[in-house]
Amino acid sequence: MTLLTLQDVSVRYPLAGRASFAAVDRVSLELAPGETLAIVGESGCGKSTLGRAIVGLTPRSSGIMTWRGRDVSSFDRAARHALKRRIQIIFQDPLASLDPRMTVAEAVAEPLDIFEPMMSRAARGRRVTEMLDQVELPAATADRLPHAISGGQCQRVAIARAMILGPELLVCDEAVSALDVSVQAQIVNLLQRLQRETDLGLIFISHGLSVVRHLSHRVAVLYLGRVVETGPIETVFTRPAHPYTRALLSAVEIPDPIAARARQRIILAGDPPSPVNPPSGCVFRTRCKGAMAICAERAPALTSTGPGAQVACHQHQPSSQTGASDLF
Ligand code: ADP
Ligand code: MG
Repeated sequence: MTLLTLQDVSVRYPLAGRASFAAVDRVSLELAPGETLAIVGESGCGKSTLGRAIVGLTPRSSGIMTWRGRDVSSFDRAARHALKRRIQIIFQDPLASLDPRMTVAEAVAEPLDIFEPMMSRAARGRRVTEMLDQVELPAATADRLPHAISGGQCQRVAIARAMILGPELLVCDEAVSALDVSVQAQIVNLLQRLQRETDLGLIFISHGLSVVRHLSHRVAVLYLGRVVETGPIETVFTRPAHPYTRALLSAVEIPDPIAARARQRIILAGDPPSPVNPPSGCVFRTRCKGAMAICAERAPALTSTGPGAQVACHQHQPSSQTGASDLF
C-alpha cells in the first residue's frame, strides 16, 4: 500500500487582480513506506511549494492527495489533526527554524505540547533524552541555545523535533544544502538510519542531483512546476531521457578527474522562464537545443521509457501517439 499519492496536484499563487499562476502544475507522484523520493530542479521550479502542499502548509488548488489510500480532503477534523503529526517537514536553515530563546531540550519537547498535552514531565524528559540520543547529539547540548551549537547540530535538533512525534513521512526541503559536505554526509546517514529503523517515507528536495543519488530510491525532476522526468534513481542517473535532466546531471561534480574530463558538459543557458507566463507547448523548449516545431505547439505528455520511468519530451514520443493516451 502506498503511503502518499498525489494525482494532478496544482498549487496556484495569486497575482494582482483576479489572476493567478501555477507554481506546481498537475504533479502526480507516489511514495511507499520506507521509500525515498527525491524532488530536484533549479531554484524557483516549485519544489518548496510542492513540499509545503504535501505537509498542508500551503493549500492545493486542485488535484487529489491520498494518505494510505484515503483521499485527505474527506478527512474529518480529528483525522486531519492526526495527519499533521504523521507528516513532518525540515528546512534548509536550521538556525532560522529554531526559536533562539529555547534550549535544545525545550525545542525538541515542544511538539509534544500540541500532540501529547497529557504526557507527564518525567515522560517528556525521557522522550527528549531518547530523541537526542537517536540523532546522536551529546546529552550536554540539551541545555544549550541554538546559536551556541553548530549548523549540523542545529539540523539534528530540527530532525529530533520532527521525529519525536513518530512521523511516517518526513519532507526534507534542502535540509542539507546549507551544510558543509562532510556534515551533509553525516545528516544523510542519520536520515537513512532513522528511515531503516522506523520505515519512514522521505521526500528529499534538492536543487542539486549529487546529494540525492546516495539516498534516494526514485527521483522526480521538476521544471516550471511540472514533472518532466521520473524514475528509479539508477535509471535516471545512468540513462537520463529528458534534455533538462541531462543538463542537471552534467553539472554534478564527478570525483574522478579523468571521467570528469571525458564527459561533455551541457550548459543550461540563462534562467528558467517565469511560471507566471510559461512558454507555449513544452515549457522547456526555450532552453532546449533539440526543440522542434511541435514543441511550441503541444505540451508533451509523460510517456513510459522503462519500468517505473517516464519522460515528458517530444523526442521520446512516437508521432502516432497523441495527448493523454500516451500515459497508457
Ligand atoms: P523552489 O523551492 O523550487 O525554489 P518555490 O516553490 O519556492 O520554488 O517557488 C516556485 C514559484 O512560486 C517561484 O516562481 C516563486 O517565485 C513563486 N512563489 C513561491 N512562494 C510564493 C508565494 N508565497 N507567493 C507567490 N509566489 C510564490
Ligand atoms: Mg525551495
